[in-house]
Amino acid sequence: MANIVAIVGRPNVGKSTLFNRLTEQRQAIMDNQPGVTRDRHYGTAEWNGSYFTVIDTGGYVVGSDDVFEESIREQVEIAIHESTVLLFVVDTQTGITGLDEDFADVLRRTEKPVYVVANKAESGDRAQGASEFYALGLGDPYPISSMTGSGTGDLLDEVVKHFQGPGIEDPNAGIPRIAILGRPNVGKSSFLNVLTGQERSIVTDIAGTTRDAIDTRYRAYGKDFILTDTAGLRRKARIDDNIEFYSTLRSLKAMEESDVCIIMLDATRGLEAQDLNIIGQAAKLKKGMVIMVNKWDAVEKDQRTADVLRKAMIERMMPIDYVPIIFASVHEKQRIFQVMEKATEVYENKSKKIATSKLNEALQPEIEKYPPPSLKGKMVKIKYMLQVPTPSPTFVFFCNLPQYVAESYQRFLENKIRAHFDFNGVPITLFFRQK
Ligand code: GDP
Ligand code: GDP
Repeated sequence: MANIVAIVGRPNVGKSTLFNRLTEQRQAIMDNQPGVTRDRHYGTAEWNGSYFTVIDTGGYVVGSDDVFEESIREQVEIAIHESTVLLFVVDTQTGITGLDEDFADVLRRTEKPVYVVANKAESGDRAQGASEFYALGLGDPYPISSMTGSGTGDLLDEVVKHFQGPGIEDPNAGIPRIAILGRPNVGKSSFLNVLTGQERSIVTDIAGTTRDAIDTRYRAYGKDFILTDTAGLRRKARIDDNIEFYSTLRSLKAMEESDVCIIMLDATRGLEAQDLNIIGQAAKLKKGMVIMVNKWDAVEKDQRTADVLRKAMIERMMPIDYVPIIFASVHEKQRIFQVMEKATEVYENKSKKIATSKLNEALQPEIEKYPPPSLKGKMVKIKYMLQVPTPSPTFVFFCNLPQYVAESYQRFLENKIRAHFDFNGVPITLFFRQK
C-alpha cells in the first residue's frame, strides 16, 4: 500500500521548498531523464526504509484572492482524500495569519493525522516562537527549516509511525502504462469514457514521478492501469484538437510514455494507411500492442467474418504478425474486458525474462535442425544465446560471424522464440555478437 504525505498551507510558507527537500535525492536521479520538468507536484521520498509519495497540494491552486476560500477547500479536500498524513506548513517569520486560521478550521475536522510544521525556523529564537502555533488547535508544532533541513528528521520520525507498511519504492511499478491511439473518430473518447467512468484507484493523479504529464491510475474490468494521455484528454474541450499536427504530436508522446498501445481501428473502415503508420511506429519504439477493431456492432457479419478480416489484416501488417486483434464494440460494451485483459497480458509478456538455460534448451535443437544458411560462402555457427535485461525483450546470439546471419534466418529465429515462449503482442529484438 502506498503511503502518501500531503503538504498543505497558504502560499509562501515554504511548501515547495519542503517538497523539494523531502524528494530531493530521488529527483536528482530523475532529472537526468529526458522529458522531465522541474514543475512537479508529486515525488517519492524515503525515510529510514519507509517509502512514501509526497504531494505538494499548493501546486493545484492557481487562483486570485477572491477564490481563495474555495481553493483552500479544494486543496485540503484533495489532501485529505488522498493522503495518509497531512503536513500543515506555517511560517515562523510571519506568525499566524487569517489564512492559516482558515486552513486550520478545515483541518481540525479531518480524521487523518495532521502535523503543524513551523517552517523557516533556522534560528533558535524562531524555533522558540513556533509555540505560538499551538493556538491553531492541531497539536504540537514542529519547528523546521526546509531550507537547511533542520528539524525535518524529528518530524519524519513521527510521520512514518502512521504508515501501514514500508510503502513501495515506486507505487506505480508493475502497472501497465497504456496509450489509446487511433485515427479521429474510431471511438477513442468513447472507450476512455467507459474505462475512466469505472471505479478509480486510491492513488488518483499520483504522477509517475519521472514524467511531466500527470498520470492517472485506473481500475476497470478488474485491471489496474495508467493512461498516458489523460492530460491531453482534459485539454480536449478547450483546444481544437482536430488540428492534425497537434493530435499527431500528442499521440506520439502518449505512445512514447506507454508500455502497451491499444491501437483502435474502425471496423466500418478497415485497416488504413494511417493505422499501419501507427502500428509501424509502435513496433519501432518496441511498444507492446493490442489492436482493437471497434464498432464491430456496425458491421454486417457471419461466423467467418472476424477470421477472414484478421487474416487479411495480418497480411497487410507483415512482418508484424504477432499482435492480438480483438473485434469489439464500445457502444455495446462487447469484449472491452478482453481488450484490457489482453493489454495486461501483453504488458506481462513485455517484461518476461527467459532463463538462459531454458532458452538454449529450446533453440539449440531448432538451430541444429535448420542451421544458418551459408552467406557468401561463409559458414555461420551459433554457439549460444541469452536474453538481456532490457525494457523490451532483446536476445543476443553469440556466433563466429555475426555479420553473415541472413535476414531470413533472423526471422526464423524470432519465429522460433515466439513458438516456444509467449511474446504475443511484443516486438522482439535480436542481436548477433562475435564469440
Ligand atoms: P510555497 O508557496 O508555500 O510553496 O513556498 P516556497 O517553497 O515557494 O517558499 C516561499 C519563500 O520562502 C521562498 O523565498 C523560499 O526561499 C522561502 N523559504 C522556504 N523555506 C524556507 C526556510 O526554511 N527558511 C527560510 N528562511 N526561507 C524559506
Ligand atoms: P475519437 O475521435 O476516436 O475519440 O472517437 P469518438 O469516441 O468521439 O467516437 C466517434 C464516433 O464513433 C461517435 O459518434 C461515437 O458515438 C461512435 N462510436 C464509438 N464507439 C462506437 C461503437 O462501438 N459502435 C458504433 N457503432 N459507434 C461507435
